[in-house]
Amino acid sequence: MTADLWARELRLYGLLVVAPEAWEEDERGLVRRAVGRMARALGGAEGMRRALGDIRLERRPEGGGGLYAFWPRPPWMRIVIGAPILHQQPEWLGEVAVVHELAHAWDARTANIAARVLGRPGRIVRELVRFVGEEPGPTRYGSGYSGPRRTLRAAGEEWAETVAAYLYPEYITHLSSRAEETVWPTQAGRGEHPRPGLGIRHRIYVEARCGEICLLVTDG
Ligand SMILES: [Zn+2]
Repeated sequence: MTADLWARELRLYGLLVVAPEAWEEDERGLVRRAVGRMARALGGAEGMRRALGDIRLERRPEGGGGLYAFWPRPPWMRIVIGAPILHQQPEWLGEVAVVHELAHAWDARTANIAARVLGRPGRIVRELVRFVGEEPGPTRYGSGYSGPRRTLRAAGEEWAETVAAYLYPEYITHLSSRAEETVWPTQAGRGEHPRPGLGIRHRIYVEARCGEICLLVTDG
């Protein structure tokens, strides 16, 4: 698939790729798979576009990934992906990273413009915190615990990791071999919740958010 065709396909999902020819062929395939997996959970390309809105997608040669919930140019939201993220072992870890940033965009779409400018979480993240209660997030990074308490900023990562763990169960299996991923619940005083893993309340919450979007698409 040519870079141009790839960019046109992603446009259907609301993604506006900056300089498509800068993306290598395997990187394009990786983004395509990540977007495809997310869209399937949201009832297709239209569902994804309704949930996340339009997003500018940029590759940079160095660094990590990030979402700019407000970007002062159309389409007003921007995701940046560093090339090192797209070349990991196993390769699908790059897909997990892309989905993670897309999940941030999904939440940002439920925040008002002032909150987005200030980088504050949206309705999805605020309601997640209320719904899951004391249940920790799926991964250490997305545990929502910054020190002993859950903070709203950390909860944004908890949401992004919840979506990643839901769409990529292999991510959780992969993390299970890492000692730091199994000791944090005890350190956070939540030793009764073995991790990594997607807790039942987190699963119900993310499934409900996906279900809402699927319903929107079927209702037309
Ligand atoms: Zn994040």
